[in-house]
Amino acid sequence: MADKIQMKTPLVEMDGDEMTRIIWKMIKDILLTPYIDLKTEYYDLGLEHREATNDQVTIDSANATKKYGVAVKCATITPNADRVEEYHLKQMWKSPNGTIRALLDGTVFRTPIVVKGITPFIPTWTKPITIARHAYGDVYKNTEMVVEANSKAELVVTKADGSEVKELIHEFQTPGILQGLHNLDKSIESFARSCFNYALDLKQDLWFSTKDTISKKYDHRFKDIFSEIFEKEYKQKFESLGIEYFYTLIDDAVARVVRSNGGYIWACKNYDGDVMSDMVATAFGSLAMMTSVLVSPSGVYEYEAAHGTVQRHYYKHLKGEKTSTNSMATLFAWTGALRKRGELDQIPKLAEFANKLEQASIQTIEQGVMTGDLYALSSLENKQTVDTETFLQEINKRLVKLL
Ligand code: NAP
Ligand code: MG
Repeated sequence: MADKIQMKTPLVEMDGDEMTRIIWKMIKDILLTPYIDLKTEYYDLGLEHREATNDQVTIDSANATKKYGVAVKCATITPNADRVEEYHLKQMWKSPNGTIRALLDGTVFRTPIVVKGITPFIPTWTKPITIARHAYGDVYKNTEMVVEANSKAELVVTKADGSEVKELIHEFQTPGILQGLHNLDKSIESFARSCFNYALDLKQDLWFSTKDTISKKYDHRFKDIFSEIFEKEYKQKFESLGIEYFYTLIDDAVARVVRSNGGYIWACKNYDGDVMSDMVATAFGSLAMMTSVLVSPSGVYEYEAAHGTVQRHYYKHLKGEKTSTNSMATLFAWTGALRKRGELDQIPKLAEFANKLEQASIQTIEQGVMTGDLYALSSLENKQTVDTETFLQEINKRLVKLL
């Protein structure tokens, strides 16, 4: 095509593993490079290349993301004992997502792709609900003890000058258990800024919930930090977009979420976010339709699918069998990244292309053409299952018309 869309700044492209690596290439070949003069800085996060570089490639890709601002990532294997054997690894490399998240200090936002025919278990959820989960501390960095009868448990903090502050936890007459938790103001501040920035980005309300009526210092600190940062840095920006920041108790939030139509971001503490994201994802229907973006407090974005490398389908693919793997979440990682690049570099054509590609893919499913996982869920009457590649070709047919 003579008039391909031109890009200014490269996207940081993080390639990955197994079936999603196959899909990655198909998406680029069928839906992107025919229309865009695709500029990327390529990092191969496939396990073999992580091994060859002693995982330096993961660190390099995160640093490139800091430099350029937008990355798109394919699902990657997090090695376990089986993988160490399968890939003859020198060591059990850490989860790339964990490494990248630590370097970017980001918050992960997960949003389902909503299509007609796949009805959420809560049918009034007509718009997506995005969950933002704080990724540091609380019960995930706890200290626990089993306590014998007739023990006294105290909280002790030793200050820099050696002085101690003590607080009685409990006088145990009978045996019991004990847990110590912590969090850091700076981590909560990063979490708050990532959430406020992302709400401005999506032009959606932000909800935040904790249990501050019971936890009057710990959870209340979260509430206060959010409130202070909002008042100082974000209130006017929210008002000018006509969106709201809304704080409520976690139990009230759950009730409101169930009664809502969706269309907002719900920020949760670490444990609440772990639980609620699985509840929301399942209620919306399919892991293969869940998108994910890591947003750093400095405004850096890394887009990906929420699912893994779909290993079982990959082994079928290797045997030469046809697979019917859903590429929607990986495709939306690309469109999210391209739209963001288009906005940052003021290339409206690029953002528009991303929107049309999303529209074409949703149309495809809503017209009854889908992969096996969705076929099992869809309530459409005229539906058919297609294989991995045909699904992308079908999207392309519709994309051509929209362009
Ligand atoms: P998975 O790749 O998410 O797949 C689990 C199952 O969910 C699949 O076998 C498939 O079910 C279904 N599924 C997931 N995505 C699908 C899609 N796009 N289309 C159709 N069906 C889909 O999880 P896993 O098999 O437990 O993990 C495989 C590897 O992924 C692991 O090495 C893990 O470390 C890695 N992982 C990476 C990330 C990441 O990079 N963000 C996240 C999670 C896991 P059926 O087999 O029933 O069809
Ligand atoms: Mg979980």
